[in-house]
Amino acid sequence: MSADAPGSGVTGLRRFVKRPAGAQGAPAPRIPLPGPQNTSAQASQARADQDAERCELCSEVLDGRHGHLVDTDKRSIACACRACYLLFTHGGAAGGKYRAIPERICHDPERPLDGTDWNELQIPVTMAFFFRNSALDRVVAGYPSPGGVTECELDLEAWDRLAVAYPLLAELAPDTEAIFVNKEEVFLIPIDMCYSLVGELRLYWQGFDGGAEVRAALEAFLTGLRRRAVVLAREGER
Ligand SMILES: [Zn+2]
Ligand SMILES: [Zn+2]
Repeated sequence: MSADAPGSGVTGLRRFVKRPAGAQGAPAPRIPLPGPQNTSAQASQARADQDAERCELCSEVLDGRHGHLVDTDKRSIACACRACYLLFTHGGAAGGKYRAIPERICHDPERPLDGTDWNELQIPVTMAFFFRNSALDRVVAGYPSPGGVTECELDLEAWDRLAVAYPLLAELAPDTEAIFVNKEEVFLIPIDMCYSLVGELRLYWQGFDGGAEVRAALEAFLTGLRRRAVVLAREGER
């Protein structure tokens, strides 16, 4: 493990905290990939083949909608075709090295986050995400900042206390899902969405608080979450 992005610790997932290739102000790709290195005049077909997104396990060419796996050794995210994705939806395969990132987005409108509980976590901003790093057995908080993403480890007891009050937090799958908090709104989301958001915000970041473009990108992200989120099923309703 190495921390190769400024401001990012070893606990996060490296791939999505890198600055995406592309012009300033251009729409960020959903998943920032390294830009093509090839500047020579090779056939454009070769380039198109090279640029095609491929399954990182079997090299099958991927279409736009495909699944993602967390590589728990490298702490990075891999693109996967449907067949490879499904192999890893039930843990166990490949010794647990890869875990499929679930696609669900949930919220619990009955339990908005209370300001006092938020203060207990001592996060100095109003938006942050949390995920469980199974290798460290820690909950890690991440939030965007001028230098990229800032991460800090939380003590599990504080998290477990909150999870009693907020059942959505107890739903969090290790390594593959995140709890996304913006003021009193709380969502359970796929972890790759967090990192693509962070990559996008970083692209637009200006000044100390991010500026208008960051606020607009965050608002668009929240609108998408509100539209897609399903209400968490209570015990006994499942
Ligand atoms: Zn595959
Ligand atoms: Zn992908």
